[in-house]
Amino acid sequence: MTQNQNSAAASQKPESEGRRPEAGDREPRAGTPFHSGFVCILGRPNAGKSTLLNALVGEKLAIISPKPQTTRNRILGIVHVPKQKDRPGSQIILLDTPGVHRPDSSLGRKMMTEVREALEGCNLILLIADVTERPAARDRFALDLVKKSGTPALLLLNKIDRLSNKQDLLALMDEYRKQHDFQEIIPISALKRDGLELLLDKVIQALPEGPAYFPEDQVTDQPVRFMVAEIVREQVLLATKEEVPYSTTVVVEQFEEGKRLTRIAATIYCERDSQKAILVGKGGQMLKKIGTAARLQIERMLGIKVFLELFIKVRSNWRESREFVDGLDWRRQLEGLTSPMDITRLPRK
Ligand code: GDP
Ligand code: MG
Repeated sequence: MTQNQNSAAASQKPESEGRRPEAGDREPRAGTPFHSGFVCILGRPNAGKSTLLNALVGEKLAIISPKPQTTRNRILGIVHVPKQKDRPGSQIILLDTPGVHRPDSSLGRKMMTEVREALEGCNLILLIADVTERPAARDRFALDLVKKSGTPALLLLNKIDRLSNKQDLLALMDEYRKQHDFQEIIPISALKRDGLELLLDKVIQALPEGPAYFPEDQVTDQPVRFMVAEIVREQVLLATKEEVPYSTTVVVEQFEEGKRLTRIAATIYCERDSQKAILVGKGGQMLKKIGTAARLQIERMLGIKVFLELFIKVRSNWRESREFVDGLDWRRQLEGLTSPMDITRLPRK
């Protein structure tokens, strides 16, 4: 964050323009109401925040896994909603966040900073809770953040596809209603896309009239390099168990776009030799599996053939190193660049 930007929401840059969007940039024609604003998705680990972001944007912007703390940075996703009969045209700028938890390392503290920065200056909060779990003390931590922010909030009760008894849902709604004055409580299934149209209606109603901050073909501000690193990390999360997923991070070292082939080299960092052995696997099988699955996804995202080379390095206790953790932050990396050479837009689908 640069010093003069007092809100995280306002500091999101559309990469095409290299500066933060301002009111008036793409003012809709006079007389046509248009709603826009920043909406923060908040909740404890594994509630389904990233699944919801991807479902609403209609693109896979955030990686997903059954393991808690999959998301480590705030992820911006833009939903362009065309004008309809009962609905004004809108631009919803969503911020997916790491799960709210009590941090126990530099990485954990950085993740909670990402949560707080996403909350600053947003117009609306979507607090998402998993209906298959009882409200617990861990929910209260997220609820406290909502209360402290003073920002209006909708409560989303997610994973209703896993609920067989409707009575349970009503009881849960009552329980949450006692805890905070939510503008609305909406049952959804992010995975099955249930309840999302109603959710969009309520979000648009809650947003002020305003301009479109981003061009219509832009769905995120993430550099492609970072998305590539995340895709590799997702495959590590899916393929490994226990400590390995949490001890791993991925850095893209080389990204060379050719006419027919993009060459990518990435390093998977882990914390111990034993983890490296797991990541390599017998006869290199594990690394091969991770590499192939990641390459296929990257090729689909970029729409071009990819040559992906993966390296594994041990860096003990990197999660405890503030310097290392800060170095992973692509927003910070971009601040140091004079030319936007590292920013590639997603291809138009
Ligand atoms: P986050 O940590 O809050 O971002 O949660 P994710 O979006 O990564 O999802 C965590 C897990 O919950 C993944 O295994 C998802 O597939 C699953 N999940 C998310 N939404 C739903 C839902 O609506 N129904 C079901 N059954 N599973 C879901
Ligand atoms: Mg997530």
